[in-house]
Amino acid sequence: MTGLDLSYDLNDIKRLFGAGDEVWAHCRLEGSRLITEIDYGGKSYSFSDEIEADGEIEFKRFCRRAAKKRLYGVLKENTGELLPWGSLTGIRPVSLFSRTVKEMGYEGAQRYFLDFFDVSPKKLELLKRIEKVQRKYLRDDPKACDLYVGIPFCRGRCTYCSFISAEIEKSGGLVDDYAGCLIKEIEFVKDLIEKNRLAVNSIYVGGGTPSSLPIENLRGILGALKGVKVREFTFEAGRPDSFSEELLQLLKRHGVNRVSVNPQSANDETLKKIGRRHTFSDCVKAYELAKRYGFAVNMDIIAGLPGEGLKDFMRTVDAVISLKPHNVTVHTLCVKSGAILARMDYSHTECASYMLDYAQQALHNRGYNAYYIYRQKNAAGNLENVGYSLKGYECLYNIDNMEDSVSAIACGGGAISKRVYPFGRIERLANPKDIRTYCLKISALLQKKAVFFSG
Ligand code: SF4
Repeated sequence: MTGLDLSYDLNDIKRLFGAGDEVWAHCRLEGSRLITEIDYGGKSYSFSDEIEADGEIEFKRFCRRAAKKRLYGVLKENTGELLPWGSLTGIRPVSLFSRTVKEMGYEGAQRYFLDFFDVSPKKLELLKRIEKVQRKYLRDDPKACDLYVGIPFCRGRCTYCSFISAEIEKSGGLVDDYAGCLIKEIEFVKDLIEKNRLAVNSIYVGGGTPSSLPIENLRGILGALKGVKVREFTFEAGRPDSFSEELLQLLKRHGVNRVSVNPQSANDETLKKIGRRHTFSDCVKAYELAKRYGFAVNMDIIAGLPGEGLKDFMRTVDAVISLKPHNVTVHTLCVKSGAILARMDYSHTECASYMLDYAQQALHNRGYNAYYIYRQKNAAGNLENVGYSLKGYECLYNIDNMEDSVSAIACGGGAISKRVYPFGRIERLANPKDIRTYCLKISALLQKKAVFFSG
């Protein structure tokens, strides 16, 4: 095996406990044994784990898991803190659970999550429910793919956002250039799909806030997508300050059948604080309009927004559920270094876990099932984001994307294409994040894309 540096993985665990320089941890290999040495709280620990795995990739994976488990155990013992996901890190816990089921069987996978990772029974239950819902959607089809179209422009900046999106009011001529290049990329990708005989499951137009683009640009982009036959076509309308009847008519004409209208909070004071230029009642109006046009609607809310306590969040959950949208996505606030909030005097709420429990219970009581999940670093309480759906309205794109089940062809600045090969091998290809660079390099990146998806 070549090289073993587990500092990144160990740092992940330190971060979960907010532990910095006061903990020292180091790993080394002795034959097939992993030696983990830890100094913490004036005590020294040394662990020796036999790593049994086939091949270098598997071996490294087990080393990472063993090292994290050991450090987690020491920090848990010394701080008395129990974390909901134990030593399990990573974005896609259901995907890992499904793979573990394949390796160890259903019972074995449950035991492994409880005993090895120390995942709480409550979170394991959530994973099991989601895995069950997803089972009927996931298929092994090497020719299946999803098509993602990214529009990294927004009206104003939300204080918690670290996404690279440009403020449309300040972007001047860039918007037309961007739309032109995006159309070029979509046309190219359509040829690629035909040549490689790929079957597109879904189209997802995301952002940013795609609806912040002028209607004539959107007309061109949606026009370019014409002819791609899909079961599901999502457009993230996102913020109601960029919502109009004209936009909905355009979406309808181009086959969109699912939109997002994202209130984030039902509390207008909070919306002001986080830089959203709309009220909750604007969201309700936008939602009702979207429903009148026959779209399935997703609504995003966030647990742990600045200044919000449990009662505020409960009000948001109740207000959103009373509207009966087809999907509700419950995010946990996650503040990354690029966000305005990261530079302000802000600390995460202590009750994020109660917030998520309340949302889960309230949504289940009203017939919603959790159907996809992902986790992010820096999320309040090390918690998760969960999508809930009324039966039959699960978003295929979200499931495919989070479970890495099929390839994704992604167009636009910062968009990441993904090729899923048999036996779980995955390769990714990223477009430049910077909008100007994306436009400048468009011809070269189309050639790269052709090579990436050929054969
Ligand atoms: S609308 Fe979304 S992408 Fe745009 S600034 Fe707000 S959080 Fe970021």
